[in-house]
Amino acid sequence: MRPVALTNFAMHNSSDLEPEAGSLQKLADNFYRLCAPNPSFMTGMGTNTYIYGDSELAVFDAGPAIDKHAKSILSVQETLDAPITHIFASHTHMDHSPCTQLLKKSLPKAICIGIPAEPNQPFEDHTFRPELEPKDLQIIDFASGQIQAICTPGHVANHVCWLLKEHGVLLTGDHLMSGSTVVIIPPKGDMSAYIASLEKIQRLRFELIAPGHGSLIFAPHKLIDWTIKHRFAREAKVLSAISNKPSPLDALVSSVYDDVERHLYKIAKYSLHAHLLKLERENKVRETELGWVLD
Ligand SMILES: [Zn+2]
Repeated sequence: MRPVALTNFAMHNSSDLEPEAGSLQKLADNFYRLCAPNPSFMTGMGTNTYIYGDSELAVFDAGPAIDKHAKSILSVQETLDAPITHIFASHTHMDHSPCTQLLKKSLPKAICIGIPAEPNQPFEDHTFRPELEPKDLQIIDFASGQIQAICTPGHVANHVCWLLKEHGVLLTGDHLMSGSTVVIIPPKGDMSAYIASLEKIQRLRFELIAPGHGSLIFAPHKLIDWTIKHRFAREAKVLSAISNKPSPLDALVSSVYDDVERHLYKIAKYSLHAHLLKLERENKVRETELGWVLD
């Protein structure tokens, strides 16, 4: 099948300024977005569910367990006159995979692909039971082209990006999104792994990112480069804020994140903690009872 030319995306770009909950948005030939109705501070307009294919359809990130969203996804089969045969998940956060189970009630033969949550993890979807757990770089043959699993631990350990190889599109789930940086929440979120996974996708060839939240990203390698630099700049700021006098997390967040609004400190503290754990593993800082100090 002929690759989707970038001009194809450009054609639809004018309508792609924002995802719009509940409406099937055509992004290119055989490539659609259906944004879930779960807008919030953390999810932006909502979780992006992507639908790809021609004679068969693949769903990427079915989204949160909302009946209305499941019905919207199922109705795409009538709209596009093709069955949903595959359901991929980028990871098992509650805004990304739980709707898979709602779809499976109507699509018992659809193959679910992704990495399940580890047992006893809070905030994870334990209903996601894939038929296929991909290995890194495994290629799944699909009617409309090959889909490659790119394992990208960091945001969480079981995160996978999906590469539509013939089309040069990388579906990034929560590994990268447009409009904001990704929160890394230890212990499942790991800053060293996250940066390594950014460097990994930086080496891949593709033309476009379809993120789990927000609009399409048309200069993907520029954004990846910016994100890696941003993480190292933040890390340098963490190091310069730490001395031999113990600093607790609450004190560090206001100096390391002095460029963000105060109401974001609660969220910023997660990523700050992830940076500190990375630096601790590198023997640059250590935690004492009173706070963090240089090692
Ligand atoms: Zn997530």
